[in-house]
Amino acid sequence: MYPCKLSISGTWSKLIKSCKRFKVGGTSAPQMIRGIVGNGMDIKFWIDPWVSNTPLKVLFPNLFRLERNKWCSVADRLGGLYGNGPVSWSWRVYPSSPEQVADLISCHRMILGQCLVNRADTWAWYDSGPLDFSVNIAKHWAVSARVGSIIPSINFNWCKWIPLKCNVFMWRLLLDRIPTKVALRSRNIIHGEVSCGFCMLEKENVDHMFTACGMAAGLWQGIASWVKLPPIFLFSVKDIVEVVEGSRWSKNKKELLYGILIVACWRLWKARNERVFAQKNRNAVELVADIKSLSYLWLCSTGRFGGVDWKGWKSFVFDVM
Ligand SMILES: [Zn+2]
Repeated sequence: MYPCKLSISGTWSKLIKSCKRFKVGGTSAPQMIRGIVGNGMDIKFWIDPWVSNTPLKVLFPNLFRLERNKWCSVADRLGGLYGNGPVSWSWRVYPSSPEQVADLISCHRMILGQCLVNRADTWAWYDSGPLDFSVNIAKHWAVSARVGSIIPSINFNWCKWIPLKCNVFMWRLLLDRIPTKVALRSRNIIHGEVSCGFCMLEKENVDHMFTACGMAAGLWQGIASWVKLPPIFLFSVKDIVEVVEGSRWSKNKKELLYGILIVACWRLWKARNERVFAQKNRNAVELVADIKSLSYLWLCSTGRFGGVDWKGWKSFVFDVM
């Protein structure tokens, strides 16, 4: 949070806006600033960036929705960790869906190493470690744009016609930050077998689950035949977004395809959770049908791309410029 209302014009808000626009490897200057936790009284647990350069409310929107006190401080939640106690969650409704439980595990894991200490919270420029801010440090960071960024990041374009939760999911998927079994084992959260929740034949990592797995292959063929593209073959999750560039369609139609691919990934992961946590089996045909209807619902609710009706959407025959 910055002490600035962006809707009110003035020098300070102009400065913040231009800082947000300037990015190095997809990271803006304000995202380089993080709260360094002392006693946890001043840093907002969900709203401020502290454990990573993205606030927890953006990383875990499913959980943030359930939080009783959205403005709670880090001390409100981690107070118990002074004595190695549990995190003091305060939920309106306890996380119970497979998605929410998986997010809770990831979030818990993320904050577990954080301990409160007896000094005030501070803010620091964070570049692989906290640094006292100076113009020189920021300049060095800005120049690194030209020589290749040292900050691990991805170029992810947010798709405007689909919900935030799908965009956040895709962004995490591209960063390999979703709780697949391989990811959970590498963080010592689970032990033992890590076979794919769908086929049980290979290790469950993002590249297998979203490209090589039979379930994913079936899904991508279903999507390709719906949108009338040649069969889609993928080798890595990064290839998913490349499909759009290879399509030679108009800008608007590309944006629609981009959203559909993201919704497909989100739905595939949901199906995996349904299978692992609720023993519900879905097949690729059911997923494609779900993706068609969900994406149509979201498309209509944005009010963009007028003139696409359900019949046209179902057969992917319509006119958008
Ligand atoms: Zn598999």
